[in-house]
Amino acid sequence: MNSHLPVTLLTGFLGSGKTTLLNRLLCDLQRPAVLINEFGATPLDQALIQQRNIPLMTLSGGCLCCQVKDSLIPILKNIYMAWQRAENPAFDQLIIECSGVVSPESVLRILLHERWLSSRYRVRTVITTVAIPWAMEQLQCFAEVRSQLNWADTVVLTQGDLASPDQQAELQTHLQAHYPAVPHLEAIQGDVDVKTLLNPLVLFRSMPSGPDPADHPFRSVSLQIGPNLSLASLQAALTAILARFGTGIVRMKGIVPDTDTQTDWVIQAVHGHLYPPTRLPRHVGSPRVGLLVIITAGNAQPLADALMALLGNQLTPTVLRVH
Ligand SMILES: [Zn+2]
Repeated sequence: MNSHLPVTLLTGFLGSGKTTLLNRLLCDLQRPAVLINEFGATPLDQALIQQRNIPLMTLSGGCLCCQVKDSLIPILKNIYMAWQRAENPAFDQLIIECSGVVSPESVLRILLHERWLSSRYRVRTVITTVAIPWAMEQLQCFAEVRSQLNWADTVVLTQGDLASPDQQAELQTHLQAHYPAVPHLEAIQGDVDVKTLLNPLVLFRSMPSGPDPADHPFRSVSLQIGPNLSLASLQAALTAILARFGTGIVRMKGIVPDTDTQTDWVIQAVHGHLYPPTRLPRHVGSPRVGLLVIITAGNAQPLADALMALLGNQLTPTVLRVH
């Protein structure tokens, strides 16, 4: 058996379509294991993974490149040892979905420099998702987005259907000017050429050096939503919140169970833009209460206060966590 476990890093800013891409990858891969890192304190992504019979681990409540970095080494060691020891391992590769605010060099530094891990894992590729409509603004505002592009082996462009021709052209010009050697492909309605994506021609990988990136400016608010709140009332409250805080709300993601129809509603907003809710079939592991995570650029307390003023009487107790 090969002694190196291949690992794919999936990065991309908040709301750029990493989970959608992960679901697409999982359709084609035979035996992957998945490690999901979420910035918000309440893990949601695992409920959005369509493939149910794969080894799946989560690290939530902080970012892999800083707050929960110390947990990464022991987790990776355990995953490797489980792979080595099993006679018929349940997985033959690992995919790490990084939180949307990760600066990937910190994770690469662990995989490529940590003495024990570096001789046991092989970095297969680094894939970075970029949402076309908001990319140029986010590149200017957030060092994390620049870092994610700097370390990409392949860039996957998403949400082209929401982008104007100008936004498309501006991003293409930027990528050609700054990352001419990095291939980029566009996901069309979530679909992408997985073979090309997982087998990039990486001739040379620069080694991360220098200090870890500075602290992220992001904070999150997580809340549980009681069963007495209708989807329409929640939508109205979120629309009001988005109108007030605008692009200060970088990402909003939630799952609201609908007990009558045995489906869940998935709520999403990116860069101040609220998407229509989509339905998700219920499965084992679906949350029984409504969960919502909102990530802000900067202090989240004013947003938490505004939410409590709008929804406080309709949330279950012990609802709100700000971090
Ligand atoms: Zn971090």
